[in-house]
Amino acid sequence: MGNLTVKCDRCKKGFKSDEIAWRIFLSLTADPVLGVNEYANLSAVQLDGRLSALLDRIAMIPEDMLEDQVYQEFAFLVCSKCRAILAANPLQCR
Ligand SMILES: [Zn+2]
Repeated sequence: MGNLTVKCDRCKKGFKSDEIAWRIFLSLTADPVLGVNEYANLSAVQLDGRLSALLDRIAMIPEDMLEDQVYQEFAFLVCSKCRAILAANPLQCR
């Protein structure tokens, strides 16, 4: 078996043949409600208004742009070292 030339997407280090690679899937989905605190204080009617306002706004966005606006999906392959770093702080908070 020759060496694989697959590299870690994060540190760019090549994987050894016996090394475990980790797949990361990241989905970003737009939340139709603006602000959790606001959401808690809204009545059902107000919430309906918010939603239809949002839908009106979405209706005006071109379709190819829309996809990135409401939903994005990423897939990465990383090494064990990068996996540990990402697992410890997935949102990269400081
Ligand atoms: Zn790495």
